[in-house]
Amino acid sequence: MNLEGKTYIVTGASSGIGEGIARDLGVRGANVVLAARRTEKLEAIASEIGNERCLVVATDVTDPDQVAAMVDGAREKFGAIHGLVANAGTAAMGRMEELDPADFRKLLDVNVEGTYTTIRAAWDALKETGGSVVATSSVSGIGGDWGAFAYNASKGAISLMVQGLALDAHASGVRVNAIAPSLTLSELTEGMMDNDDLIGAFKTRIPLGRAADPSDIAGPVAFLLSDEARFVNGVILPVDGGLNASNGQPPLG
Ligand code: NDP
Repeated sequence: MNLEGKTYIVTGASSGIGEGIARDLGVRGANVVLAARRTEKLEAIASEIGNERCLVVATDVTDPDQVAAMVDGAREKFGAIHGLVANAGTAAMGRMEELDPADFRKLLDVNVEGTYTTIRAAWDALKETGGSVVATSSVSGIGGDWGAFAYNASKGAISLMVQGLALDAHASGVRVNAIAPSLTLSELTEGMMDNDDLIGAFKTRIPLGRAADPSDIAGPVAFLLSDEARFVNGVILPVDGGLNASNGQPPLG
């Protein structure tokens, strides 16, 4: 997909999946608005894509003023906004009795409210172009994980927010979809990658037999953003190596 002349906002573009998406959009010729809190990382990525096609904006998605200023800056530099990748997110693990209620609220603030705030801020601009939203849900937003109920709550909320928004497409003209990756190499998961037992267990459940790289996630996102996906709306697209093909029973042989 050639996305030359299009402009896309990517939140959480400073590392992991968002960085992979931003780089991929850059390769496809798009203008990229890179939003996150760590601007030095964003600036390094922008200089590799090409500064003339990028805008770096320090953005904490839990601050509606910063998010609004980021969208204003994007419109000022590039005019039209054709798509938004609402990807910024974090995790908090632990069973009910282990997780501090303050951490639960903080997680929802970033993952759920931050996603809502970003989509809301870009909505008018996206209505002008018949644009596309891609939110980063997760396989954890489709079913439960052991010891991760809070993360499940936050990602499940994103999945249903996306589907609810997608139903209003006849009025808004904006398509809204989500991706649902399984375990992907990123700052969020780097601590897990040296745990051979854990990674071995993941490999038995992922038919393609490995964790994803951010570049594995970027192609499906580019598709959902593009006009090639003009009749795709309200989809929670697993990008999971086949994890969701299983009915949950363990391997029999
Ligand atoms: P990373 O930690 O590598 O990336 C998280 C990104 O989100 C960073 O760019 C970070 O930037 C940004 N971010 C976090 N909090 C905020 C905030 N308050 N405001 C703005 N930006 C913020 O992890 P991933 O790439 O793994 O995570 C990206 C998304 O993918 C998340 O939504 C995550 O839940 C989801 N996901 C991850 C999977 C995985 O296995 N890795 C699987 C499925 C989904 P900065 O710190 O500079 O602000």
